Amino acid sequence: MPRGGGTMTERVVVAGAGPVGLIVALVLARAGIPVLVLEAASAIAQAPRAIVYHPPTVEVLDRLDLLPAMAEAGLLKHTYQWRSADGEIIAGIDSSALQADDTKYPFNLHLGQHRLAEIALAALLRYDAAEVRFGHRVTGVAQTADAVRIAVRGPNGDDEIRAPWPIGADGASSGVRQALGFSFEGTTWPEWFVATDIRFDFESHGFAEANFILDPVHWAIVPKIDRSGLWRFTYGEPPDVARETLRARAPAKFRALLPGGAVVEPDAFAPYRVHTRCAPSFRANRVLLAGDAAHVVNPVGGLGLTGGILDAAALGDAMVARRRSAANDGALDHYARERRRIFLDVIAPTADENKRRLMETDPVKREQDRARLRALAADPAAARAMLLSTQRLVGTPGPV
Ligand SMILES: Cc1cc2nc3c(=O)[nH]c(=O)nc-3n(C[C@H](O)[C@H](O)[C@H](O)COP(=O)(O)OP(=O)(O)OC[C@H]3O[C@@H](n4cnc5c(N)ncnc54)[C@H](O)[C@@H]3O)c2cc1C
Repeated sequence: MPRGGGTMTERVVVAGAGPVGLIVALVLARAGIPVLVLEAASAIAQAPRAIVYHPPTVEVLDRLDLLPAMAEAGLLKHTYQWRSADGEIIAGIDSSALQADDTKYPFNLHLGQHRLAEIALAALLRYDAAEVRFGHRVTGVAQTADAVRIAVRGPNGDDEIRAPWPIGADGASSGVRQALGFSFEGTTWPEWFVATDIRFDFESHGFAEANFILDPVHWAIVPKIDRSGLWRFTYGEPPDVARETLRARAPAKFRALLPGGAVVEPDAFAPYRVHTRCAPSFRANRVLLAGDAAHVVNPVGGLGLTGGILDAAALGDAMVARRRSAANDGALDHYARERRRIFLDVIAPTADENKRRLMETDPVKREQDRARLRALAADPAAARAMLLSTQRLVGTPGPV
């Protein structure tokens, strides 16, 4: 059984048992650093959200020995298509555009993020130095010179925990970020993103393993989730539609978009408002932010959790470096600076361009997009560059 050392006061406290909080906790536990995860909910959240993991995140999952279980439960995706709402295939590419030594991971991994969180939780709990408390909400953080006081509300009432280096991985509405007084500047996009999990045989209708339906009204994102026949079908609804009417409108949307006008009963249904927002810093003295607590982005192209998992790995490594040498405080600064730069310079503009193209209303721009996609598909070097482009999300390593 793996074991960690250290006293309780050295323990790193992580707010949030989402995928990001659990992965940063796992990096720390594997390095022998005691860690306590406080999760407000009573269990891992099951809502349909991220399912796509790009090669740089697959590398993190592999390093943490999570990849075998995830690949077993999920799907290794190799094919993409861009389609029109009436079923025309505009362009398609696949991982055969990659060369033998391009990457150890010539695929995207698909699996619901709740399964990732469950697999990471099971791995974390193998470490005696790791503890996860569900039903414990962080309600405040206050910094002193040598520690942070964390206010926690649990089943037995209010408590206070002192921790030297707490991490806020408590999602887009982060209480930790708010307790720091940080703003969350950016955009809330007007339209609804309606995420559904459905069972439909898309492949017999010529779909790839990941599909983008480009249309100003009937846009959709259609990736295969796993090998059980489950697909994520995320489509748009206009901004002014009331949330409570969205479920009743779903059959009409399926009829308009599924081949043959099929109507299916979704296994899961969740409407979202999506945002592009970023905290002014990912570090406030002793408190660090990671994942959606630090930045959020629209989900087109699957870059939100991708950025979060890369944050988790980088922050875990920075904390291990700092633990090795207290003088290495620069590792935490590097984490905060570099991950924020990657979000602002790479993740947010890429995701926002993906979103624009998906639902572009200008016919001239739509035609230009189609021409660019056809050129991409016709040029193996361009397709290869696109498949390798998520390497830019990794950033430069900090002090070790
Ligand atoms: C429809 C949709 C599809 C998406 N698809 C993709 C995709 O394919 N690829 C991708 O990379 N990203 C995708 N994303 C984005 C992705 O879901 C998020 O980036 C991801 O969930 C962030 O993980 P996290 O751990 O930072 O936050 P969360 O998953 O939100 O986890 C935060 C946790 O903190 C807990 N918590 C909250 N407040 C407190 C508190 N005060 N105290 C203690 N605990 C607290 C919450 O209960 C939760 O368990 C998608 C998002 C949506 C909506």
